[in-house]
Amino acid sequence: MAEEKCLFCEIIKGNIPSLKVFENEGCVAVLSIKPVSKGHILILPKNHYSFIGNLPDDLGFHIIGAIKALSTILTQVLMCSGLNIVHNVGGIAGQKVNHVCFEIIPRYADDKIKIDMPEGKTDEDALYEQQKLITSAIRDSTVKLLEAIKEGKIEVSKEVKEQALKALEMMNKDKPKLKKDSEKSEKVDLFKLEDELEKI
Ligand SMILES: [Zn+2]
Repeated sequence: MAEEKCLFCEIIKGNIPSLKVFENEGCVAVLSIKPVSKGHILILPKNHYSFIGNLPDDLGFHIIGAIKALSTILTQVLMCSGLNIVHNVGGIAGQKVNHVCFEIIPRYADDKIKIDMPEGKTDEDALYEQQKLITSAIRDSTVKLLEAIKEGKIEVSKEVKEQALKALEMMNKDKPKLKKDSEKSEKVDLFKLEDELEKI
């Protein structure tokens, strides 16, 4: 449900004027009124969502479609040398309006934009722990969803249910590799990757 006086919702409704450059089924794109560079565009879902994780999949498809189309067009008509595609989530990351927004910022050779993200040190154990944490959480939520389909808690077509049952069976067979051996081999790969990156 739309929040009261969301700036982007007001723009989408036309209550606040904007310069629209693109529209598809799920989103609109308008020129930023405080452009970081020439051609700075904001891509806004037509419905109010404050968090990317809550976007329906088909809306994600429309947003990526808009980003693709606009990136191509901007490169052609503005002769920019590159683009930054920016999406800020949460105040700490610079989200200023509580409405999902993807920005395309064209880049030019003489622009004064600086994106400065300090590089951290590679910590193999920490990375491995993060990988385990993320992949097991994704796995758990997928299994939970498939089990809900299996138990009929989520209604789907017969075809989808068959696929879900197969996927569940495969996931139960193919448990994540947590053996010492795989742990070692992943560490070696990471070292190699780091060495390769340093050569560049
Ligand atoms: Zn909104």
